[in-house]
Amino acid sequence: MPDVNDKVRYWDYLGDYALHREAYLAAVDRVFCSGRLVLGQEVAHFEKDLAAYCGAAFAVGVNSGTDAILLALKALGIGGGDEVITVSNTAVPTVAAIRASGATPVFVDVEEDTYLMDASLVEAAVTPRTRCLIPVHLCGQMADMAPLKEIVRRRGLKLIEDCAQACGATYREERAGSFGNVGAFSFYPTKVLGAFGDAGAMTTSDPELAARLRRLRFYGIEKGYHAEEEGFNSRLDEVQAAILNLKLVGIEAAASARRDIARIYDEGLAGVGDLGLPVVGRDCRHQYYLYTVRTPRRDRLMEFLGREGIETKINYPHPVHLMRGYSALGYREGDLPVTERLARSILSLPIYPELPWPHAERVVDAVRRFFRGGR
Ligand SMILES: *Cc1c(COP(=O)(O)O)cnc(C)c1O
Repeated sequence: MPDVNDKVRYWDYLGDYALHREAYLAAVDRVFCSGRLVLGQEVAHFEKDLAAYCGAAFAVGVNSGTDAILLALKALGIGGGDEVITVSNTAVPTVAAIRASGATPVFVDVEEDTYLMDASLVEAAVTPRTRCLIPVHLCGQMADMAPLKEIVRRRGLKLIEDCAQACGATYREERAGSFGNVGAFSFYPTKVLGAFGDAGAMTTSDPELAARLRRLRFYGIEKGYHAEEEGFNSRLDEVQAAILNLKLVGIEAAASARRDIARIYDEGLAGVGDLGLPVVGRDCRHQYYLYTVRTPRRDRLMEFLGREGIETKINYPHPVHLMRGYSALGYREGDLPVTERLARSILSLPIYPELPWPHAERVVDAVRRFFRGGR
């Protein structure tokens, strides 16, 4: 167990591993002894349980969250010449997957206090080429789905939820991944549901779409090694699925531990200086993948916490629309003012289920001292 005076880690899986090592190793051993290393019973078991957990009829495992979005777009027939509305305040992979499909991402700005897609701006971004909307459930909280679903219905668009950061989050009691045509998940190790390597999945309640997603991850083959269409290799690894089967059983406990840390921050940091705390939507259950605060003095706060032995991160320091790799999309500084302001002012504090409470209290104490000292 970490000492109170140790460095406060931003994220760490070693505490979880120490606690459940025997079970993880037994799961890996079970796969190695099973005689079937690819698309075996662990993947089938995980897909069944993930679908049930998310409130969808089907889940299809793939090798990353990026591929989950890409295969969702492909399965919905979206590609070259099509526009996909999403946010620039996201991880690069959301946009990378849209580009890989051949479609053009169109960015709308986000809400200042939730960091999520501003539903009031979406309608104006719809053109005759728009085919799909991809809201990103950033930080562990779902975007405002009621107005988004309404726009999708009225304009005849497809809806893909980027659930990479929000497995288990709810909006009006319904889980992420149950709202869209497809929900796309990442199980990258840091995520709320994290594997011990790369992994992802898609959820859907449409049986034909589920069958197509299944084909697309396996060279376009349904059976008999005959490709029905052009596909990919994007299988969820059997070993990672075995790990995820264990993790899924514990996801509610892990999320509840994250919420306990968030409560320590919420209570300890309320009303401190010009610090904005994450706002939870009225209809939302937040999974706290990230606990992201905002302040105009972000850089100095980050430096100060670093000197106090507290690791923090910026999610994300560069909005995607201003990255060199996406300059061809033609966006300029000033196009998404809230997103750009957030990139200069947000800071994510340490949060993970095993974060010792005394460490969270040390973070609170240090942040309060920073603002009191007016540094
Ligand atoms: C992690 C993440 C992804 C992609 O997941 P990978 O498994 O790393 O490919 C997509 N979108 C968001 C918002 C993410 O945080």
